[in-house]
Amino acid sequence: MTIAENLDKIMGQIPSDIRLVAVTKKKSVAAIKEAYNYGIRDFAESRVQEALEKQEQLQDYQDICWHFIGHIQTNKAKKVLENFHWIHSVDSLKLAEYLDKLAAKTFISPHVCLQVKILPDPNKYGWTVEELWQDLPELESFKHIKIDGLMTILPLGLSQVECLDTFEKTKKLATKITEKSSLQLKELSMGMSNDYLLAVEKGATMIRLGTIIFGERD
Ligand SMILES: *Cc1c(COP(=O)(O)O)cnc(C)c1O
Repeated sequence: MTIAENLDKIMGQIPSDIRLVAVTKKKSVAAIKEAYNYGIRDFAESRVQEALEKQEQLQDYQDICWHFIGHIQTNKAKKVLENFHWIHSVDSLKLAEYLDKLAAKTFISPHVCLQVKILPDPNKYGWTVEELWQDLPELESFKHIKIDGLMTILPLGLSQVECLDTFEKTKKLATKITEKSSLQLKELSMGMSNDYLLAVEKGATMIRLGTIIFGERD
């Protein structure tokens, strides 16, 4: 199957208002161009250096919207801010605060999602639900980053029912925070190659797909 055929299939499965973010980590610039020529404009990378190298080769593709989805070390935060429109992986109060300060200084205001762990997962970054409620007052005070939604990555090995349940909890959490705070969490970045249909069923607004578009990564 070609990239275009894979995209055809996915597009046929999801409502048109869902933002399909093509995850191109470890994939070539040629693959990105193929998806671009199909009509995809949202691309995500998880490593800063790799992303910047590709962006350099894609300077003529001015209408790409770049998304960052990897863990961010403080010393890379400025580069991420300067080169990505969306940051899905804001995973701590410290990082949010740092990005907000940088955003104030640089006059660049990224759209961000707060990464949450609805289920405990020692292998992942992000807030637990309890931690997020605790940090909410401070998050509300950040005026330079645009906190637009929640992002979640499910732990491996969940059943379909557990996936659905966890996506639903993510959506309910976003709704509740929007009701009880000044944040407007309208975006839900959830769903990857293995679970995007379940995520869409539960209200995902952005799905992050790599393997199912571009094939297995080495
Ligand atoms: C790699 C990655 C994806 C895409 O995963 P696939 O299973 O290849 O679709 C999505 N989100 C994040 C945060 C990733 O790191």
